[in-house]
Amino acid sequence: MESYKHILLAVDFYEHNNTVVYRAQDLANKYQAKLSIIHVVDNMPMIDAGYGADIPFNFDLTTELMATAKKNLTKLGEKLMVSEDRQWLEMGSPKTEIVRVANENKVDLIIVGSHGRHGLALLLGSTANGVLHHATCDVLAVRLQDN
Ligand code: AMP
Repeated sequence: MESYKHILLAVDFYEHNNTVVYRAQDLANKYQAKLSIIHVVDNMPMIDAGYGADIPFNFDLTTELMATAKKNLTKLGEKLMVSEDRQWLEMGSPKTEIVRVANENKVDLIIVGSHGRHGLALLLGSTANGVLHHATCDVLAVRLQDN
């Protein structure tokens, strides 16, 4: 069995994501795999974004969300020593964009948290579930407790 060569970590920048981040870092080290990170600015209406805002989505806000997301991604990239060309900031549906970027970049393992902003009440969050259904490579959903 071949070991993983390219791991894609999907982050939503919620605090509990640290567990997911450390798991991705650990696996990338163990497999000597390339690590990429992705964040998708959701283009669906939102009232509970993870950027410290609690306001309805509008187009003016998009630029600000992208800028804040870029800062967060750059910071995480520095922490994980992931170069800029392996940091993906996309806009759209998180599950669609995560799977698209994975396919286009020959990713062989996608790592997501089991729960995030969308999923505390569910067994598996909607993004994790969507990625799991549509990905053409392995997917690891890192178990997160909701307490
Ligand atoms: P959720 O579906 O919101 O419960 O999120 C489950 C997991 O999917 C999170 O822990 C992240 O790993 C990933 N995820 C959710 N939203 C995004 C996003 N906007 N961009 C990238 N990854 C995301």
